Amino acid sequence: MTAKNVSIETLAVHAAEPRPARDRSVVFPIYQGTVYEIAPDGGVDYLRYANTPTQTYLHDKLAALEGAEVALATASGMAAISTALNSELASGDRIIVAGNIYGGTHALLTEESRRIGWGVDFVDAYDPAAWAAALTPQTKAIYVESITNPLIRVGDLAGIAGFAREHGLTSIIDNTFPTPVLFRPHELGYDLVCHSATKGLNGHSDLTAGVVTGTAERIERVRHYLTLFGGSLDPHTAFLLARGLKTLAIRVRAQGENALALARFLEGHEAIAEVHYPGLEAHPDHARAVELFSGFGSMLAFRPAGGLDAAERLLKSLEIPYAAASLGGVESLVTRPAISSHAKISAEERAAAGITDDLIRFSTGIEAADDLLADFEQALRD
Ligand code: PLP
Repeated sequence: MTAKNVSIETLAVHAAEPRPARDRSVVFPIYQGTVYEIAPDGGVDYLRYANTPTQTYLHDKLAALEGAEVALATASGMAAISTALNSELASGDRIIVAGNIYGGTHALLTEESRRIGWGVDFVDAYDPAAWAAALTPQTKAIYVESITNPLIRVGDLAGIAGFAREHGLTSIIDNTFPTPVLFRPHELGYDLVCHSATKGLNGHSDLTAGVVTGTAERIERVRHYLTLFGGSLDPHTAFLLARGLKTLAIRVRAQGENALALARFLEGHEAIAEVHYPGLEAHPDHARAVELFSGFGSMLAFRPAGGLDAAERLLKSLEIPYAAASLGGVESLVTRPAISSHAKISAEERAAAGITDDLIRFSTGIEAADDLLADFEQALRD
């Protein structure tokens, strides 16, 4: 079963589910054991090797959703990203990073990369001349996020994949924000796709996991490092993640509908100065998002007209969303990036990236859109 012959809604429910069902159980069981009898061909199954039945079942489901040959689950999104980078870069190699990236990945690619010996060149995700200028004989890979945080921008993702192909670089993309429901980067030619499955893939804010997908050959290298550094996902969490995945498509669609309704409402509200959501015609990347994605996702950001005081008042007055970081869950979350996701970045760097202190980020849940709008209406009246 692949995305070529059934829709992603059907894949989410049925991909990788054994037919006939194991022991006639409609739900795939949790094989909690760490150790298995040696296989007839001498193969060793072991939890840290990420090759036991519940892990393999999850991998097959994730590969089907992302349209990849093979998937590998990891103990967190950062384990997925750091292991993918480890599998492609040796000491002395360089990587081009296009656009803004998640703070944890940024820290890995600035502070830690110096210790490891990777050279990192940060470039604009919209400027092919800058990518070309950053190329050196040591450059081995290019890294980008499909939707950036917190300004919800969409870089030239097709251009970056093409540039990587042309120059023999490995293209690596963090696809956490759109999820494969909205965007499948392998179809554009990306070599490795990473996720924090902690977010939309699981969707219930109750586990930490990550995923890397790619060809069997590339994922074998990732698996080698995952095994050595010990970042495999345990089977109980794998079971929960697979359960979350079954509702992925309907959750992501419902979140996107809510986010668009909210973005349109805020765009027309006199107490709001600006709204960042790629589903709005006024967003600078709207045309690209329409071309590449089959929806605009759960994330939006906005600034109240009254500055920081108004932003803080609004956060206190909203009754439905939790004031919390993270994203992609069934419950709406609201936060100020300057004091949460981007607090560790200097005020100067934040200002340069357009992350003002009054910027509010909203991760839309699956509540009724009318209730979210009514909540904003009352909160903006205060
Ligand atoms: N990638 C993105 C885009 C994220 O937002 C995050 C976490 O917020 C990560 C990766 C890291 O994921 P995790 O917390 O599961 O390690």
